[in-house]
Amino acid sequence: MEFCDDCGSMMKTEGDVWVCGNCGAEKPRDSANEAHMTSTDAREETEVVDMSEVDDEEIGPTTTVICPECGHDRARYEMKQIRSADESETRFFTCTECGHKWREDDH
Ligand SMILES: [Zn+2]
Ligand SMILES: [Zn+2]
Repeated sequence: MEFCDDCGSMMKTEGDVWVCGNCGAEKPRDSANEAHMTSTDAREETEVVDMSEVDDEEIGPTTTVICPECGHDRARYEMKQIRSADESETRFFTCTECGHKWREDDH
């Protein structure tokens, strides 16, 4: 819902613009849409929440992965190259909750 800047009457949409039913003033709908967009702020808040890995330096790098043993969603990991050099590196996980160890390609 938009109101006319000039006379304060209710405006109606016509294509890409708002048109005042009283005085005929127009303004683009885009500017009105931007004013209602709060997604930028919401995204920033989400990022702050995600930065919960404050104890990284104590326990090493962690990643979000489900422990097959207890279902915990965070584990320490290290990259290791196994067998021949032309095989890709494999991640080894250690559950931060129960200490269970497993290999990425065990799934
Ligand atoms: Zn008007
Ligand atoms: Zn676990």
